[in-house]
Amino acid sequence: MSLTCLGCRLANGQESSEIVYEDELVTCLLDIDPFNEGHLLILPKKHYLDPDELDGLTGAAIMNVSSEMSTILKRVFSPDGITMIQNGGIFNDLRHYHMHVFPRYEGDGFAWIEPSETHNAKERLAETKLLIVKELTKKGQPE
Ligand SMILES: [Zn+2]
Repeated sequence: MSLTCLGCRLANGQESSEIVYEDELVTCLLDIDPFNEGHLLILPKKHYLDPDELDGLTGAAIMNVSSEMSTILKRVFSPDGITMIQNGGIFNDLRHYHMHVFPRYEGDGFAWIEPSETHNAKERLAETKLLIVKELTKKGQPE
């Protein structure tokens, strides 16, 4: 845990927040700027930035809690759906890994905006597959 990291402080109870669940690996709390009521963040207690840095147990805990919280959000808010999303690298504004889990409603205004330039990736699916499979073979399978 880093005292200079807001995510570490939030995950370890060093900052005031609305925590709904925590265990030895992760903390789940309300986003202070919710997209919809019930917008949750799941943070590891140890400092990580990207999902590929997470140890296996912490990664599994994040997915398990995401799934459990989806069930709870469905029961409490009866949404039209649930969105789970995380942003890596420079797109991670907190600079500490966090998974967003929030209720969605038809017409709620939250949007998945596709990039205007797709670099013709749609025409190269078979080549793209080979690139990824080749790297998997070189590195071995993910844990
Ligand atoms: Zn941190």
